[in-house]
Amino acid sequence: MRSLRKDIPPILKSDLNEEPFHNCLMCNVDLIESQIPYMIEKAFKRAPDGSLYTIFEFAICMNCAQKTQDQLSRESLANIQKYFAEKRDLFERNEELFDAEKTDFEDWTNECILSGNKISECEEFQVLAMCQGNQMEMGLFPYAISGAEAENMQELLSEKTKDELDDFMNTHLDLPPELKMLLEESSTLVLV
Ligand SMILES: [Zn+2]
Repeated sequence: MRSLRKDIPPILKSDLNEEPFHNCLMCNVDLIESQIPYMIEKAFKRAPDGSLYTIFEFAICMNCAQKTQDQLSRESLANIQKYFAEKRDLFERNEELFDAEKTDFEDWTNECILSGNKISECEEFQVLAMCQGNQMEMGLFPYAISGAEAENMQELLSEKTKDELDDFMNTHLDLPPELKMLLEESSTLVLV
């Protein structure tokens, strides 16, 4: 698998201060100083005028991401992995993009990884990226996933896992009440 490091694109900076994410959502470790690899996940919704606004955003260090994944039921995890594997092989995608010399963040996130639908036509979507320090790694990530496919993935989870993810969102994402409602209606945390 080929990989490349690039500066973190503006869309993946935190809306709070337009700076790169600095701390892990769960353990609060300093992501820049520690150099522990981490994931950024941001969910967006398109306003009627076409502008984007953020539904939620966070960065999570790989240690905590692993711990969270370990807590999920084996069944839920297996369902998601199977669903993903049937739709898109991330290693194959890596080959295709590098072969086509597509190394812009935009090239990697302009289609839903699962449906292939244009993100510009999706009312909701999420972007996931793997980073280290102030750099983003292009390898298996980054990718975008449409709101519709995020919901499909949600359907694959057991009730127990769904409850755990709701707890995760409520505990760690400090969201204003109107956004919490929006989330409950529509959006879904995508598991890595
Ligand atoms: Zn952490």
